[in-house]
Amino acid sequence: MKSYYKELWFRVPTRRAFINITPQVEECLEESGIREGLCLVNAMHITASVFINDDEPGLHHDYDAWLEKLAPHEPVSQYRHNGYEDNADAHLKRQIMGREVVVAVTGGKLHFGTWEQIFYGEFDGRRKKRVLVKIIGD
Ligand code: ZN
Repeated sequence: MKSYYKELWFRVPTRRAFINITPQVEECLEESGIREGLCLVNAMHITASVFINDDEPGLHHDYDAWLEKLAPHEPVSQYRHNGYEDNADAHLKRQIMGREVVVAVTGGKLHFGTWEQIFYGEFDGRRKKRVLVKIIGD
């Protein structure tokens, strides 16, 4: 069995954003030389997510509006976590959108369902953060 990993770095200039990282993950898979196996992609920070869904701007707007309803950023004083930090909402948003995804690797390709793409969800940006890509198989 082969094993490969890479850390992808992101510095999102805004507090919140959704970025399609499918091309970077496909590059990792190519680099790994693995044809059959599993690919794990996870955010390495507790205020960011990795999730799979459609690459459709309307949907991303809907996610942002929905997450802001569930856990509004302002007023930051409403959260007990916020003392030195002002990112309690980002922790809650990350919990809803998830930490990681696992995608099957078949014939050297990510084995997606219809319209599936991998996204990095940033909820407390404007600093460098990492995503881990780990691929195992043959
Ligand atoms: Zn925090």
